[in-house]
Amino acid sequence: MALKLFNTLSRSVQEFTPSRSDRTGLYCCGPTVYDFAHIGNWRTFVFGDLVRRTLEFQGHAVTHVMNITDVEDKIIKRVRETKSSLREFTGQYEAAFLGDLKTLNCLLPHHLPHATEHIPEIIALIEKLIARGIAYRAADGSVYFSIEKYRGCGCTYGKLLKLNFDEMRAGERVKSDEYAKESVADFALWKARVPEDGEVFWPSPFGEGRPGWHIECSAMSMKVLGESFDLHLGGEDLIFPHHEDEIAQSEGATGKPFVKYWLHGAHLLVEGKKMSKSLGNFFTLRDLLAKGFTGREIRYLLLTAHYRETFNFTLEGLSGAKSALARIDECVGKLREIIGAPGTAPARPDASTEPQRAETVLGAPDELFTRFSTALDDDLNISAAWGAVFEWVRETNRRLAENSISSADATAALAAWNKIDSVLGIGTAREVEAPAEINALLEARQAARKAKDFKRSDAIRDELKAKGWIIEDSPKGPKLKKI
Ligand SMILES: [Zn+2]
Repeated sequence: MALKLFNTLSRSVQEFTPSRSDRTGLYCCGPTVYDFAHIGNWRTFVFGDLVRRTLEFQGHAVTHVMNITDVEDKIIKRVRETKSSLREFTGQYEAAFLGDLKTLNCLLPHHLPHATEHIPEIIALIEKLIARGIAYRAADGSVYFSIEKYRGCGCTYGKLLKLNFDEMRAGERVKSDEYAKESVADFALWKARVPEDGEVFWPSPFGEGRPGWHIECSAMSMKVLGESFDLHLGGEDLIFPHHEDEIAQSEGATGKPFVKYWLHGAHLLVEGKKMSKSLGNFFTLRDLLAKGFTGREIRYLLLTAHYRETFNFTLEGLSGAKSALARIDECVGKLREIIGAPGTAPARPDASTEPQRAETVLGAPDELFTRFSTALDDDLNISAAWGAVFEWVRETNRRLAENSISSADATAALAAWNKIDSVLGIGTAREVEAPAEINALLEARQAARKAKDFKRSDAIRDELKAKGWIIEDSPKGPKLKKI
């Protein structure tokens, strides 16, 4: 079965057929770095990570791009309020974002383009739209996208929402980055400098100013992935106006289809209500870590709901995540023990006369793999995917209890689990949660190796071993494993 995904563009579940065999472009709208990302934002970023991991699991060579919006209305306001420079202000939140991404074990996108580093590309795109008669300079010096001219060229504005213009009263023009669909209007591509912008402005052929939010994503996605690419993803709150405007700007400039599949993640409620600071249910990732939960538990919980369903995130759910993960850890740990001490594990009883046993038993590695893949193919049916995992855990525990898992069985089971975990990204407690003291020793060992002090690095390795940890060097760097 091939991967099927719900495409907002067609309002239907479609088979994913990449337009190029050598590379699949995946663009996820990234953070606006004016504050710490909250758990609702993280739901979308973890969803993006799941999409990328699923595509890679299926053998696609993905180029994953996530923009960093480091100039925008809210940022300018905060820069003014905090009397800091743009770079100082956004730098701290970008660093926090990347740290959180790591805590949640999301793969780092291959490209993280910054809006402020793509001003020439943004200006070039606006010039193209002006040359095509779709954008115009208004009296205030700002440049706007003309919805009327765009539609006059035979293009459709509102492809994702299926806007009905006959029933709408189009507004004049809108300068702010966010607006309601009731006021569909010409939107700003370039915002002329005003006193409130302070030092945040760039020179351009249209005068000093700064880019609008929507044009940033069009310019950066097309720069890295080309004028047409396969997948564009974001939270459902971005459908309008952000993604509609991205389509209009991009297709208006190139005359080519911009994106083949648009994927949108649903909202998140916290304790049954829309997240709000006044209700006390507004959580950033660090708020939850401070309550004693781990990134792994939060990732697990965010991955338990289908991406198109509104998800109710609760602290009770996080506690449940802890016990669910403990069940997986215990099972995987026992399988590792069998491999680690093959002499103590009983061989599969009379394996020579039962060659099909491992393949036919419910919950066997092959079946786990097949059921897991089939579930993901079905528009990322994560509930069915977890169902396969926990059925495998149950069955494996049963076989462990009757001592019927040989070292070879355990090796095959762990290989299947590792492949599956390349999608889930939850690891096991042993791999991702070494105590701080052990991690500090690993860092000291790396520093010693870098300084070519091999005597010290060996001594640290021995000390780690004495404390029950071994270092495994991998192409991605050293990894700690519990003995
Ligand atoms: Zn975007």
